[in-house]
Amino acid sequence: MNKVPLLINGQFIQSDTSSYIDVTNPADNSVIAQAPCTTDAEMEKAIATAQTAFESWRHVPVTERARLMMRYQALLKEHQKSIATLLASETGKTFDDAMGDVWRGIEVVEQAMNIPSMMMGETAENVARNIDTYSYVQPLGVCAGITPFNFPAMIPLWMFPMAIACGNTFVLKPSEQDPQTPVKLAELFMEAGAPEGVLNVVHGGKDQVEPLLTDPRIKAVSFVGSVPVGQYIYRTATANMKRAQCFAGAKNHTVIMPDANKEHVLNNLVGSSVGAAGQRCMAISVAVFVGESKDWIPELAERIGQVKPGLWDDKDAGYGPLISPQAKDRVLNLIQAGKDEGAICLLDGSDFTLSGYEKGNWVGPTVFSDVSTDMRIYKEEIFGPVLSCMNAESLDDALRIVNANPYGNGTSIFTNNGAAARKYQHNVDVGQVGINIPIPVPLPFFSFTGWKNSFFGDLHAYGKQAIRFYSETKTITSRWLEDDIAGGPNLTISLD
Ligand code: NAD
Repeated sequence: MNKVPLLINGQFIQSDTSSYIDVTNPADNSVIAQAPCTTDAEMEKAIATAQTAFESWRHVPVTERARLMMRYQALLKEHQKSIATLLASETGKTFDDAMGDVWRGIEVVEQAMNIPSMMMGETAENVARNIDTYSYVQPLGVCAGITPFNFPAMIPLWMFPMAIACGNTFVLKPSEQDPQTPVKLAELFMEAGAPEGVLNVVHGGKDQVEPLLTDPRIKAVSFVGSVPVGQYIYRTATANMKRAQCFAGAKNHTVIMPDANKEHVLNNLVGSSVGAAGQRCMAISVAVFVGESKDWIPELAERIGQVKPGLWDDKDAGYGPLISPQAKDRVLNLIQAGKDEGAICLLDGSDFTLSGYEKGNWVGPTVFSDVSTDMRIYKEEIFGPVLSCMNAESLDDALRIVNANPYGNGTSIFTNNGAAARKYQHNVDVGQVGINIPIPVPLPFFSFTGWKNSFFGDLHAYGKQAIRFYSETKTITSRWLEDDIAGGPNLTISLD
């Protein structure tokens, strides 16, 4: 059995543990690898190593750090297909979608290549007579990342390249459900020339996360995952005086105005609702049809019904299985709740199985209409291939629905009316807004800016905000004495 290695101090090693978590192929639940529950001694070594490596990495010129990212970007591009194949085999994602997962991570590494200009400070001359002030941006120390199963390439790459480009060192604890892809990313990072100890990878679950939240050598924690775990990690990390940024669950609404282009709406809603089996934090799970646009719902359900789940290497497959039997149970349970609570199930994927893969975590595409805000399928994150359709009388009505929802990751509006789009973008209490674009994930020169229960913290992932999250600002005020300076002690607070 393939036992997934740890990366500690530049070496890929087998853990001494006797406790392992099975990594399964979600298409049939066969065991394909085992993730070790890293021992306490190994956790200590990973953190200590990162601390030691920081003492030298922090002095490495920013241009050299940028060049490491350039070599890494080239290697990731060269190996994109093999990473995507591994990723698809352990997540069940279709190959094309897996390629996208890797690509969106490569784009963050490209952003990290710009680190010299992104880390520039500010200057002001003559803030008082002969006195200048300037600031430097300096790294924090050891940072930690805890990542979810659903983007095993993109999300680790949101974190460690930006942190390390800033001059920090890193301990990554990837999801135990698909840990092989992040290890492959780490192998390529070492191949790119990363010094020993700058990136370390440990495996496991809650017990392995704990020291990353409490150890005083860890200065900042980045987390992506579910709401309850995100809240726990934010509370624990900040109670231990660390910076934390925790990206959590979502319930993303799209609003469809009756003046929108119908073809564009239907095509976009198919992909954004059931693509990746709905296991995207930016997936559209609620469609709010304003006025007469509700007449499009039956045709939407028909088109979504044409999407066929299948194996990752089946070119005709629209999406793959859910990640685990527990995930499938949760989704089936919520579909049943939707029916019990009175929503109309226009398309029911609960009985779907793939022939020959009956033991896999398959759920067919599912569409509900007449969903109301008191139903569980509306209130809970389903994280499956299920779209809930609702009706609203007006844009104001739709805005009220979206703004009352506790999540605020992403939203979109489909309309040909600029004033309606402007009103929506300005008034909606959601951090990422698409106009005629269903899943508005910002490219990495912006930041990934979820709001409300979809994010706990203040500085977001990648872009300028990541630089601020992973650094400290040092501000220097200086006066160089010239011969003619005179005067006695200054007992006031002012500079002279
Ligand atoms: P999860 O919360 O179960 O796990 C995430 C990570 O936390 C994993 O590494 C896991 O080992 C660890 N973990 C689990 N339980 C823990 C505990 N009690 N204490 C400490 N650590 C723990 O999430 P998941 O199922 O892997 O991912 C799906 C979730 O992630 C969804 O809710 C989705 O919306 C969310 N997500 C959010 C974003 C975003 O940007 N907002 C992006 C991707 C995924």
